[in-house]
Amino acid sequence: MSIDTVFDRILRKELPSEIVFESDHVLAFKDLNPQAPVHVLVIPKKKISSFNVISDLSAREIGLFFQGVSLVAQKLGLAESGYRIVLNCGRHGQQTVDYLHAHILAGRQMTWPPG
Ligand code: AMP
Repeated sequence: MSIDTVFDRILRKELPSEIVFESDHVLAFKDLNPQAPVHVLVIPKKKISSFNVISDLSAREIGLFFQGVSLVAQKLGLAESGYRIVLNCGRHGQQTVDYLHAHILAGRQMTWPPG
């Protein structure tokens, strides 16, 4: 059984969040602690805990998730200037919420390598 996370509660609208996009398949909301002028999190409505177990989703569901991430970036007007997508996974990836989520970071020049 998966644990109830803060993102489960945001999805159920039990916790307030600044939602920027919602479809049948994904929910996108502003990160509480933004690391860039634009910092949005995108979650699939069908929950999985991390990228590690992405094969628990069907190929269609995985596709709909990434399509949703791309759509959010487009809706936020980021397509031309560009953005970074981050999927933190596990301890070394510094994942803190056990609900698959993509960070969309934009609005400033990113650097490489990441910290
Ligand atoms: P990660 O470290 O990849 O698991 O990312 C989790 C992200 O969730 C962090 O960037 C947090 O700032 C963000 N976060 C935690 N709680 C909330 C919340 N209630 N609303 C929006 N973002 C949150």
